Amino acid sequence: MKYILTFLFSLATLTMSGQGIKAGTARKCITPPLPFWLTGYAFRDKPSTEVLQDLWTKTVVFEDRPGKRVAIVTCDLLGLSHEICEDVAQEVYAKYGIPREKLLLTSSHTHSGPVVWPCLSTIFNFSSSDLQAVAKYNQDLKDHIVEAIGMAINDLEPVVITSGHGTAGFAINRRMQTDKGMVIGLNEGGPVDHDVPVILVKRKDGKLKAVLFSYACHNTTLSSYAINGDYCGFAQIDIEKANPGVTAMFIAGCGADQNPNPRGTVEDAEQHGKSLAGAVNGIISSNSLRPVNPPIRTDFTTTTLDFMPFKPEVYREELLSTDIYRQRRAELMLEAYNKGYDATKYPYCIQTIRFNRDLTILGMSGEVVVDYSIKLKKMYRKENLMVAGYCSEVQCYIPSKRIIEEGGYEPESSMIYYAYPGPFKTDVEEKILTAVQKSMKRTGVRPSAKN
Ligand SMILES: [Zn+2]
Repeated sequence: MKYILTFLFSLATLTMSGQGIKAGTARKCITPPLPFWLTGYAFRDKPSTEVLQDLWTKTVVFEDRPGKRVAIVTCDLLGLSHEICEDVAQEVYAKYGIPREKLLLTSSHTHSGPVVWPCLSTIFNFSSSDLQAVAKYNQDLKDHIVEAIGMAINDLEPVVITSGHGTAGFAINRRMQTDKGMVIGLNEGGPVDHDVPVILVKRKDGKLKAVLFSYACHNTTLSSYAINGDYCGFAQIDIEKANPGVTAMFIAGCGADQNPNPRGTVEDAEQHGKSLAGAVNGIISSNSLRPVNPPIRTDFTTTTLDFMPFKPEVYREELLSTDIYRQRRAELMLEAYNKGYDATKYPYCIQTIRFNRDLTILGMSGEVVVDYSIKLKKMYRKENLMVAGYCSEVQCYIPSKRIIEEGGYEPESSMIYYAYPGPFKTDVEEKILTAVQKSMKRTGVRPSAKN
């Protein structure tokens, strides 16, 4: 009996001290064949024929007990669709036994990447050959993501995980109140989140294997026709150059109302990349890192968000609008209405991945505004937290109550391009925060005490 207890105690100590966790990494190139249409801006009127930087899907798979795996996937893309996430999740479960709550799919939100159909479909007027090309890209993308996860599983080896936080200052709040209403500009005093959470995965010999890092800012430094990952593409390359053999993975934060400043040139994107990579490299060389131990607990929760009531007469009128995007949105809304679909509800998903009591990654879908990460970091201030936006599908902007009440691009006009009957009802923030708290609680995280 005594021996059994001693054995169980050593086993528990071994797990609690971080021994026994494994990680594997892999990447696949997801640069589309040229020419190919890029997405993120409505003004582009021809496909891209130039690659400034290749795009990647990268994966890190963690195994905290034999056969029990968690996969985190990054993509240098504007966003994934619901269909892609569902198809990938089904295949990953069938092939590797990783269930949905243990698969986190993220996108960097680069505005210099390929169309992922049908996200933002109203900004395009595609021919049948364009549609064939985007359908083929969707299929190849799914295959690449699934394959990279398999490759990462084959790469599993014992690792030690640590984490830290740096800062980068190039994100600026872009919602500017003017005489003409709320416009996109530079709001110097507006809310920002300059936190750069970093997760380091080291091999047993001390060599760095993977770095996961996050920042809350749109990848909109560039708006040309050349394919590239924007500032986070440059940051990943810089980190990988400075640390040979490492897989650098960018996870976008809640940067939906944040733009890089300045923006417009490749030099600007390089400079922001350097500044972000500098913050990450500072953490890599730091002596005060926090150990991150297994076990890993996960949760996947959905909550239903409501748009303002749907009025078909509004869209019948918009069909006659001179604005082509309003016309296209109206066609889709009326088609849904005529088929009896309820286009006023959206099932919104939230994921939590928690490493023991040491680190929590909260994954929120869509373009999440910075109010959420600021509030959640306050609410869970004793938790070592990485709050990610752009997880799973990027269906539309996810505004806070404040932003819905203020109006402007994020809560209102962006919904035309995303083909939703926006804006959301103002209770959207409360619903999301309630669902986040439920999801966090299921992995053992409770809000920090008031003082
Ligand atoms: Zn965006």
